[in-house]
Amino acid sequence: MFDIDQAIRKNIRELKSYSSARDEFCGDASIWLDANENPYETDMNRYPDPYQTELKKAVAKLKKVEENQIFIGHGSDEIIDLLFRAFCEPQVDKAYLFPPTYGMYAIGAQINQVEIVELPLLQDFDLPEWSQIQSIIRSKGLLFMCSPNNPTGTAYSLNSIQELASQFPGIVAVDEAYIDFSETPSAISLLSKIPNLVVLQTLSKAYGLAGLRVGMAFTHPEIIKVLNKIKPPYNINTLSQQMGLKALENREIVLQQIQEIKHQREWLRNELEILPQVVKVHPSEANFLLVQFEDTSTNFKALLDHGIVVRNRARQVEGCLRITIGTPDQNKTLLQTLKSL
Ligand code: PMP
Repeated sequence: MFDIDQAIRKNIRELKSYSSARDEFCGDASIWLDANENPYETDMNRYPDPYQTELKKAVAKLKKVEENQIFIGHGSDEIIDLLFRAFCEPQVDKAYLFPPTYGMYAIGAQINQVEIVELPLLQDFDLPEWSQIQSIIRSKGLLFMCSPNNPTGTAYSLNSIQELASQFPGIVAVDEAYIDFSETPSAISLLSKIPNLVVLQTLSKAYGLAGLRVGMAFTHPEIIKVLNKIKPPYNINTLSQQMGLKALENREIVLQQIQEIKHQREWLRNELEILPQVVKVHPSEANFLLVQFEDTSTNFKALLDHGIVVRNRARQVEGCLRITIGTPDQNKTLLQTLKSL
């Protein structure tokens, strides 16, 4: 049975967190002289709400969770780092990853002196069963599953996620940065069944707000309390809270863009598959395609020469470039350029 007290790092369990001025008083007042702010109005002279109350209300409504099940981070990258700091004893606990996957899990592990243990995906990049990895899992720690996965585009079924998460002795983070482009439902629906689950989402992808730095974690109130205890007091600035709220309240354009990007993804897949230099286009439920080329570096360099930047992932997946889906015009230009080579 999962025990959160056992999962938390000892020094974090014992930590008495910093209490900011806004922690100590957050009601109504007419004169604020408690936070050493400049009293002259600039619209930004006050510290932001440390717990992003209004933004969380909107997120809770949209995702059908309680406000105390939400943590907002400075991008999901901040939350990945906080998970290591909260739940991994350096040099003792392990980070379990399914490569090829998003690079920041390994970086977070290294920064926090946590040993990385690589788990094998199946041939088609799908998750294995627990019985296939059980013997590799030697001690507790943090398990990351990215779904849809970057860079493969594979979405994992909720059954597979549930099976692994319910057996794993530690915190399980399911990173759903690309979930809005996927037909697979979110693992948020598993929260009621899995006490050690943390689901990560972000406004950086489908919502078109990568510059804002707003990531979200959905998990149990006890885990949220731990993250709140160790986060910088004012981690989400006032503008990000305001713009994030606006974005969630006006989703029509975002929903249209998601449909267009998904449509373009399938159009581009069909077009790329018939190019002579393309070996394989991997199935994708994200806003990118992982494409295997005959001569990867020649195609990569030729695209660069035409001012088109894609991501060379050949070191992660043999011969592969990862191509983000652009606007219809951008995708056409990409295709014409590849055809001309
Ligand atoms: N998770 C995955 C799988 C990603 O690909 C990325 C960005 N490349 C992130 C998280 C980072 O998201 P954010 O901008 O919210 O920090």
